[in-house]
Amino acid sequence: MKEHEALSTRGGKLWVVATPIGNLEDLAPRAQRVLSEVDLVAAEDTRHTGRLLARLGLSRPLLSLHEHNESGRVGQILDRLRQGQDVALVSDAGTPLVSDPGFRLVRAARQAGFEVLPIPGPSAAIAALSVAGLPSDRFWFEGFLPASGAARRQRLGTLLAMPVTVICYESSHRIRALAEDLAALAPARELALAREISKQFEEHFFGAAGALVAWLDRDMNRLRGEFVVVLGARPEVDRGEEAAWTQDQERLLRALLDDLPLKQAVSLASRITGLPRNRVYARALEWTE
Ligand code: SAM
Repeated sequence: MKEHEALSTRGGKLWVVATPIGNLEDLAPRAQRVLSEVDLVAAEDTRHTGRLLARLGLSRPLLSLHEHNESGRVGQILDRLRQGQDVALVSDAGTPLVSDPGFRLVRAARQAGFEVLPIPGPSAAIAALSVAGLPSDRFWFEGFLPASGAARRQRLGTLLAMPVTVICYESSHRIRALAEDLAALAPARELALAREISKQFEEHFFGAAGALVAWLDRDMNRLRGEFVVVLGARPEVDRGEEAAWTQDQERLLRALLDDLPLKQAVSLASRITGLPRNRVYARALEWTE
């Protein structure tokens, strides 16, 4: 290791190493070096990481660390650090801890006084944001949405009301259902979808939410793979409209919510006031959550 990266006298270091999300060439040279030098690699899936190491011509001791055994593994890894061993933490793809395990280990290692250092590299969220063409000065990282339809739509109501760009991860099982929900809740909302970033069948969509289902259906292969959905922020509402909302429309919505189920109250309020359904929905959720 370089001098400034040498082992601290207090023990080993925990390296949090980002690995490729598709293309192996995206692995940083420094990540490769650290992986070749550590005493142990804690990996979400040891077979998966074993294959990555083999492709790099490396062989290191591996220890599994995934969401079901992380709590139990923390003590074992802290012992290794106490013995002065260096440990790398990797997930199956991208940056560990970003919708991936590792938080408990990182926190415990920091609390125990060990150095915890990142090896920066790929993350699907940032890669998708960087090409989305949507404002990126501020953004909200949502990760995975709830799996069940009702819970997902409810969460989307909240996300669509946010004044910043929102990044969601989605799997092939639910991407079409998500596109349908978005078309129903906010058909005009700008969004970007990144599919299979840095892989052979990489594709990107940019347009209105209402057009995404048709884009996906144009080629059934588009429903395969891994996805990041980047939602544009809630459009700016002019101040007059906001003021009108808080006076009459708010009273109306509250009254309807007192007597009717959420969906019916929102639908009726939207019809009476002419306000977009998703905006009424988002406001109703603020009161009912
Ligand atoms: N830690 C990873 C990161 O930094 O991006 C994310 C891990 S999370 C368990 C996996 C999700 O990330 C996938 O379901 C997908 O939403 C997204 N993802 C990962 N690789 C991707 C890729 N090559 N293209 C598009 N999305 C990807």
